[in-house]
Amino acid sequence: LAQPVSAPPKLILCVIDAMAPAMLERAVAEGQAPVLAELIRRGHYVPDCVAAFPSVTPVCAASIVTGTGQERHRIPAMNWYHREEQRYVEYGSSFRAAQRFGIARQLTDTVYNMNRAHLAAETLTVFEALDDIQVRTAGTTYLMYRGRHRHEPQRDSTLTRLAATLVRHPVLGPRELFYADIFSSRPTGCRSGLGMPGVRDRHSGCVGAYLVEHDLFDFLLLSLPDNDWHSHKQGPEGQVQSLAHADEQLARLVQAGGGLDAFLEQHAMIVMADHSQALIAETIDLQPALAELEIAGPTASRLGAAAGSVARRARGEARIAVCPTQRAAMVYVLSEHRRSTLRSSVIRRTLPIDGVQLVMWLDLDAHGAPAEGVIARPSVGELRFCPEGEVRDARGLRWSVEGELGALDASLRDGRLHAPAFPDALARVWSALTCPTSGDVLLSAAPGYEFLDWGGQAHVGGGSHGSLHAEDSLGALVLCGLDGAPERAQWAIRDVAPLITQHFGLASGRR
Ligand SMILES: [Zn+2]
Repeated sequence: LAQPVSAPPKLILCVIDAMAPAMLERAVAEGQAPVLAELIRRGHYVPDCVAAFPSVTPVCAASIVTGTGQERHRIPAMNWYHREEQRYVEYGSSFRAAQRFGIARQLTDTVYNMNRAHLAAETLTVFEALDDIQVRTAGTTYLMYRGRHRHEPQRDSTLTRLAATLVRHPVLGPRELFYADIFSSRPTGCRSGLGMPGVRDRHSGCVGAYLVEHDLFDFLLLSLPDNDWHSHKQGPEGQVQSLAHADEQLARLVQAGGGLDAFLEQHAMIVMADHSQALIAETIDLQPALAELEIAGPTASRLGAAAGSVARRARGEARIAVCPTQRAAMVYVLSEHRRSTLRSSVIRRTLPIDGVQLVMWLDLDAHGAPAEGVIARPSVGELRFCPEGEVRDARGLRWSVEGELGALDASLRDGRLHAPAFPDALARVWSALTCPTSGDVLLSAAPGYEFLDWGGQAHVGGGSHGSLHAEDSLGALVLCGLDGAPERAQWAIRDVAPLITQHFGLASGRR
């Protein structure tokens, strides 16, 4: 068996949405994921790669492709309030939630605005960084696709026929872009079936195999999203089956590359989760608890076509916006002049809600700059923190910390913070709190709980994610064939983009 002497020339980043380490390990042990088993055997397996907070797909996807937290990429949640446009942004918590804001608006925000307007323009994606040095980039359907190559929508696809007025604009993506039925940089014979759950992995596998067979990329982002959908429905235990299906798609690429040995001589592999999932038993309804404070309604939009007199009146009276994002939530204070009073009211009302585990906010200094983050835990107390100080976290970052360590079930030993129940907590919470598009008060749910979305939906009896807790924050990461992937005490999803750019010779520290 000839081992490659240096890193293989091409690189595939495969994101298996919500891949839980325990479920991957079980699928491998049961022989249901032979390709993943072999990548783990030949490579390096990380069972605890930390997600972003909120640990939901849009935030994590942006962290994966930019290598930054949301303080730099600015995608704060699955559902958030756009202060400048005075309206909610909903990326698709559920079909019913999308209906509340309008399907057309949700599609436009997800397909176009997320990359074109919401994702910070000055923060490079891996596609942009690699396009700039003429690496041949490619991507299958993934929330984040921003690159340097222009793609026109397919005029004749089912989706563009159904929604011709919505999906008529070109986008900037990787050199080869295959996005649902909408963008397809060349004919492959692969069908996306409107991007429906259960069919999306097969579309990625089909496109991926075609690209491997025809040598059409140096870097490919291969997205396998169906595992998340399956796990939301069946609970995390159901992942063994959906990971087996994901593995079958990887096998198609391997086969197109001439079998595993030949394939791995040509391709380095990163296979990763964006976050994990936890079982849901109870829901939290924020609206009744905060209704007295006048919550902005879904149609209260200055720029939206639906902004009639009712909506304008609603906007005038609304003092807060409430944004559930699965196992996390954000509350925005909308009225400037009563900002601190209103924020205190939100904190006072959310702390006693059953299932709210952490309430977080940012205190500013006299000049309006971030001074101190506060993490409050009901009946435990408050932990206050800010960057630079005497305490080191598991990733070696320095923090100043005071107050109740019990808020994070944490302990301090020799100047090191141990908080295994809330991994990478300080950096993730700081990133969320200092993100300019985040809410003023952030909430994280206790294990077993999920916030009802704007459509009144949750995943009781199934799985979900979004919280700061280890349960939904620790995903699987497999590295195979990468030169010089450093050993780390704690991996985070934002470590992956620098590995990719370094693989193609870009210096680290660029992002
Ligand atoms: Zn999900």
